[in-house]
Amino acid sequence: MSTAPQKPSLAIHRKAERKLQWETIFIIGVIHLLALMAFDSSYFSVSGLVLGIVMYFVAGMVGVTMAYHRLLTHRSFQTYKPVEYFLTFCACQALQSGPIEWVAMHRIHHKESDEEPDPHSPLVNFLWAHAGWLFVSLPDAHTYQEYSRFAKDLHRDKWQRFFDMFFFPIYVLTAVAIYFAGEVYGGLGMSWLVWGVFVRTVVLWHCTWAVNSVTHTFGYRNYNTDEESTNNWLVAIFSFGEGWHNNHHADQRSAAHGQRWFEVDITYRLIKIMELFGLVWGVREPSQRVVAKRLDIMVDEEGLRASEARRLDTEDARAEVLHTMTDPTMPLEVPEMPSLTEASEAAVESARKAMESVDAALSHASVALKHKKDDADQAVRQMLEKGKDMAMAAVEQAKYAAAEAGEFSAQASAYLADAKDRATESAHQAAERARSLAQEASDAASKAADEIAVAFKGIERPVISSAV
Ligand SMILES: [Zn+2]
Ligand SMILES: [Zn+2]
Repeated sequence: MSTAPQKPSLAIHRKAERKLQWETIFIIGVIHLLALMAFDSSYFSVSGLVLGIVMYFVAGMVGVTMAYHRLLTHRSFQTYKPVEYFLTFCACQALQSGPIEWVAMHRIHHKESDEEPDPHSPLVNFLWAHAGWLFVSLPDAHTYQEYSRFAKDLHRDKWQRFFDMFFFPIYVLTAVAIYFAGEVYGGLGMSWLVWGVFVRTVVLWHCTWAVNSVTHTFGYRNYNTDEESTNNWLVAIFSFGEGWHNNHHADQRSAAHGQRWFEVDITYRLIKIMELFGLVWGVREPSQRVVAKRLDIMVDEEGLRASEARRLDTEDARAEVLHTMTDPTMPLEVPEMPSLTEASEAAVESARKAMESVDAALSHASVALKHKKDDADQAVRQMLEKGKDMAMAAVEQAKYAAAEAGEFSAQASAYLADAKDRATESAHQAAERARSLAQEASDAASKAADEIAVAFKGIERPVISSAV
């Protein structure tokens, strides 16, 4: 049960504006009294009971729930006009006012749920919401001109105006027809009247009224709607799915009021069967946007949020790793491609310089080797010293280029692993190119160093011997 907010001073409570609906009080009273005849067993018959149950379905499910509520008030599905009028005729059997008044009252209820203009808020009190409101006309809505403002669509339809005006004679004539049919069937006119009309009318009244009273007071809520509506399985059984009233307040246009697997809604099932036969179309399903806010699903959303947080943590951790793998001076948050290109260019440039050094060293080595044959002298030795230095420098430079290319390549791989817009195939290719250039430079430098060493071997002795 919800903790009721402070009772609003509903307009209906202002004594000066109370206008009792004597006709309604009289009719509801008389039918209740007539229904008491059911306690006289001489009026009982199996056929009368079956008729009562059938008429309960016809007036309650086909009439009130499907026609008045889901079709005429909320337009949850569409159908042919003759079908609409037949459904409305069934609704007249419920003796719950004509279609225009019923729809107007219900639209006011949705517009101002549990607020002052709500015709039947349980915040006044439970009995008021259940039936009390019926006995007093709503200020500003007790004449046809006043209430039809809330159902202009129906007011424009002359057949709906007809049903609104003549629902009571329609109900009475049907009752008379039921009486004579019972008489013809086997002298059961009174039994059929008591069970097929009075009892089922009273039971249906209370079940319909329970939607206004019980499912705004007792039950659970799937949605945090801004009134007190609830879902109640007992009301849902006897009102053909209308008891999933909190779902309905959350998503008023949906033809389905039941949403969770146990929220059985047979009116919706019947609408779907009629859709199969092409009798109705445009059946409105629950809005996904609304369903996403369902409290039982929100629990899962908590889980989703937790997993999203975990994912972000992982991403942070990965960014951290990435950060340590890459040059810390490189900004992480911006797309790294310009920096990667720079790094690539730097590596390539280093490799090129290494190659130049190697070339120079090699040429010195070859000059030295040439001079070795002509009895090397001091000049040759100097030249070789220079070549040795250059070769060593080339090796160093190549090593540096290789290291830089390697680092860059690792960087590129890391970005590729990150895979989200950060790295591109070209970065990877550039890294590969830099690495292979550096490798070449390194190989060439090693070769140069070897040759220099060979040159030294050949030349050292004569130089030394000449020195000696
Ligand atoms: Zn409601
Ligand atoms: Zn509604």
